Amino acid sequence: MSATRVLVLNSGSSSVKYQLLDMRDTSRLAVGLVERIGERTSRLRHTPLMRGGDSRETNGPIADHEAALKAVADELARDGLGLDSAELTAIGHRVVHGGRRFTEPTVVDDAVLTEIERLIPVAPLHNPANLTGLRTAMALRPDLPQVAVFDTAFHTTMPESAARYAIDVETADAHRVRRYGFHGTSHAYVSRETARLLGRAPEDVNVIVLHLGNGASASAVRGGVCVDTSMGLTPLEGLVMGTRSGDLDPAVIFHLMRVGNMSADEIDVLLNKRSGLVGLCGDNDMREIRRRVDAGDERARLAFDIYIHRLRKYIGAYYAVLGRVDAVAFTAGVGENSAPVREAAVADLTELGLAVDGELNAVRADGPRLISPPGARVAVAVVPTDEELEIATQTYALVGGGDAAPHARP
Ligand code: AMP
Repeated sequence: MSATRVLVLNSGSSSVKYQLLDMRDTSRLAVGLVERIGERTSRLRHTPLMRGGDSRETNGPIADHEAALKAVADELARDGLGLDSAELTAIGHRVVHGGRRFTEPTVVDDAVLTEIERLIPVAPLHNPANLTGLRTAMALRPDLPQVAVFDTAFHTTMPESAARYAIDVETADAHRVRRYGFHGTSHAYVSRETARLLGRAPEDVNVIVLHLGNGASASAVRGGVCVDTSMGLTPLEGLVMGTRSGDLDPAVIFHLMRVGNMSADEIDVLLNKRSGLVGLCGDNDMREIRRRVDAGDERARLAFDIYIHRLRKYIGAYYAVLGRVDAVAFTAGVGENSAPVREAAVADLTELGLAVDGELNAVRADGPRLISPPGARVAVAVVPTDEELEIATQTYALVGGGDAAPHARP
């Protein structure tokens, strides 16, 4: 029997998310999550999906990523899907920062590990956790290809005009300061799926992708190639997010240091964790914000308006970057679920060919769908993202003996 299964691992600082897929039809065999690794109250939730099995939850301390992965392997083995299975062809890892070097999914060896380690200064929160996941999985199955799929890779096609900050070139280069962008796996998947929805080849379609989750980013994709994205050196730049400020005058930081007596670390926490929607109104869940707006809450209204204002600025900017726009695609938690956000994002932009149909926008559905009025010049679409499927597809295409059946799942 040929090996057609790919395990996808997304290792965070205190969590591991995983999915096991069969790439013959891209069906999911099992999904799960280990949370609060290193605490006394760790939890593993595992759901086998092949025969409609029930979720299983294990509570109790899981000391580190190694213990977490071993626990995951045990759960998979209980369903006959263990890591020792001959049908497992590779493990695909989400790695947040691949710098300029990693433009493609990459089979991991010691040299690749060293390079990912070298990027820790530009991704101090994410790359160490990704590395731990990689090393642990490599120790468990040293014979199996381990593939790193980088969040930054899709954006490495950005021209220098979009990727460089306008600061002294030598200083920037010495410290690798440039715009890398993130959520690339999602932007790649969604831009391609949007072309599919339109029945056109990705090479023929220009798309503005709006990935609006708790983290949020926009990208301008010309003929399948990313030409600009809103996140930069770190995921802090760009749109207003759940807890991140997005764009701001860099002098705000010096001001807070000099006048507010805040340290760099305190400002880092302020801008990444206590800003955005949560900083503006105390909530970062768009459902709760909309409930408050509907109840007449002024702070929630202002937070929503600031969020939408920034989003519209990026839509306008990327319209100008692309020149011709065929589609605007909304994705991730807010983009897929919040009709009010989608409506407000393109309201009164009919001059640009942009509009949503009220009825289509209100429909709740799982699959990709158009929400623009029939015959609209620019398609507006909701395209659910699937980063795990994209990681599995890229992994399998690299080591699984040929192309996966991309997106065969209904
Ligand atoms: P993500 O990071 O893609 O998982 O998105 C998480 C965010 O999606 C949450 O913080 C909510 O703001 C938002 N979200 C999830 N479900 C809904 C919904 N039904 N309506 C509006 N927003 C939602």
